[in-house]
Amino acid sequence: MDKKVQKQMFIVKSPCYKCKEMFNVALVNEEVGTGQIYGPEEFTKEEMRLAEEHGVLIKEQFSATRQESYYANTCPNCGVFVGQHFLFTEYFCEASYGGCEYETIDLA
Ligand SMILES: [Zn+2]
Repeated sequence: MDKKVQKQMFIVKSPCYKCKEMFNVALVNEEVGTGQIYGPEEFTKEEMRLAEEHGVLIKEQFSATRQESYYANTCPNCGVFVGQHFLFTEYFCEASYGGCEYETIDLA
């Protein structure tokens, strides 16, 4: 069993862009080594639980542009949330290039 492709959850510790407090943001890299990621709105129940266990606050948010609610990483201090686009540019890329502290959890 040589499984090359692995799914990993990233827990990225980064200062909030609004209040500057550090908080944890969760995202899943669908295939290690690629830029294929998804955020809490596509998390399974298990992934949701895992993220919360690692101190990530995931809350339902309402997007005015999309006219629908979805789950997003939320700052526990000021309540601002991280949109899908920022998840990639501000968190995944930062972590990939060693620009911030993060941990990874292997998913099945
Ligand atoms: Zn904040």
